[in-house]
Amino acid sequence: MKLFNSVILSTFLSVISMPLFADESPITPEQKATAQQLMASALKSDLGFNIVESLTTEIGPRLGGSEAEKRARDWGVKLGNELGFDKAWIEEFTMPFWDRGHLHIALTSPYNQALYGSALGGAAPSKKEINAPIVYFRDIHALTAIEDGTLQGKVAFVDGEPMVKSQTGAGYGPSNQKRRIGWQHAERGGASALIIRSVGSDSHRFPHTGMMSKNGDKWAKIPVIAISNPDADHLRRLHNLDKPLAISLHSGSDWQGDVTSGNVILDIIGSEKPEEIVLIGGHLDSWDLGTGAVDDGAGIAITTAAAKLIANLPKRPKRTIRVVMFGAEEVGLLGAFAYAKKHEGNLQNHVLATESDFGARNIWRIESFVNPQATKLVDEIAKIIAPLGIVRGGSDVKGGGPDIIPLANKGVPTIRLNQEGTDYFDLHHTPDDTLDKIIPEELAQNVAAYAATIYLIADTDIDLKAKR
Ligand SMILES: [Zn+2]
Repeated sequence: MKLFNSVILSTFLSVISMPLFADESPITPEQKATAQQLMASALKSDLGFNIVESLTTEIGPRLGGSEAEKRARDWGVKLGNELGFDKAWIEEFTMPFWDRGHLHIALTSPYNQALYGSALGGAAPSKKEINAPIVYFRDIHALTAIEDGTLQGKVAFVDGEPMVKSQTGAGYGPSNQKRRIGWQHAERGGASALIIRSVGSDSHRFPHTGMMSKNGDKWAKIPVIAISNPDADHLRRLHNLDKPLAISLHSGSDWQGDVTSGNVILDIIGSEKPEEIVLIGGHLDSWDLGTGAVDDGAGIAITTAAAKLIANLPKRPKRTIRVVMFGAEEVGLLGAFAYAKKHEGNLQNHVLATESDFGARNIWRIESFVNPQATKLVDEIAKIIAPLGIVRGGSDVKGGGPDIIPLANKGVPTIRLNQEGTDYFDLHHTPDDTLDKIIPEELAQNVAAYAATIYLIADTDIDLKAKR
């Protein structure tokens, strides 16, 4: 009884001590109804799919800094104008261009066999054909432990395991260490080249390309090649049989000097607070092996289509919605840094930023990094988009996507709508990243989630900025 009374008392006290209107939703019934309409129209619309089909078919692969990436920028501005965005323009920047060139790679001992490989971004050319024995390393840790100069006249091969599949892509970070820093240790050992198992979760004979990391301001002076998972499995089995492994390798990849890249920017101007910007987007460049449908034509399509559906409303939301098609993401977030630098004096007006860069499977979670007072707004948005199959994730997860990192680091609040990523790293950076992998209904679910979320953030007066 005593317990019962104290429960009643404490409940009573907590009710009377609550601030006035604490239960009032930060979203009006009209805003909620508009968000629901946006979701319904997005699920029926094929605009998103049409955009990614157009980009991947009419432009094709678009390596950062290439002529194809320039065509993609022109395509982006034309698309923005055709869709009726209020403003569409390009902000150019200069970047060093790395070109893949040709590649020949084959096993020559214990017998001749072609390998399926791809140079990694930033790799140097072989001056002539390399014919050398392979030294096998079980994983990146075995390579980092070598003594200086012990790989002279040899080619290092770093094995490892295929990347672990997970919904969040959590296996990527640990797995890509061999891609990022392996070359520094192979060079320290004096190796003529480095070969790594691809950073990918598939069992197909597709190599996964990707950028290496610079060491200070230095790039690799040796060729660095990723081979497909089945080829890496094959080398492991031969190594386990104590067979002498040797390779022939010729790679033409090299740096080509400075070129122009750029970000494409499309604005839907806000009706009451046009200076306040809700930034969404994806990256316009892709790796050159596939057509960059999943990475990241999908992100361009999802965010552009979502903004267009919001623009179709009878009244613009209060804040400006800005779609940024970032250039040269794959080769080092160059467009992201260029944007943050160019707009550094106006970042206080960027009320939120988020990027779609994790494919086009269904969105299943919303995470946020906004001030504690604005967390309730995101909680309420999560309830509105829940019928799409989306749960509320963490409210203290800094992120927003790779191109958002420089903005988030300068205090711009972020959210992230997480796509289901279990098969993302089967396709990532391979020749198999093509349009047929995108399921139109799932892409439409993405557009619905973005449209509702971004509309609700653009039409609120709530300040999301953290005073941390
Ligand atoms: Zn990407």
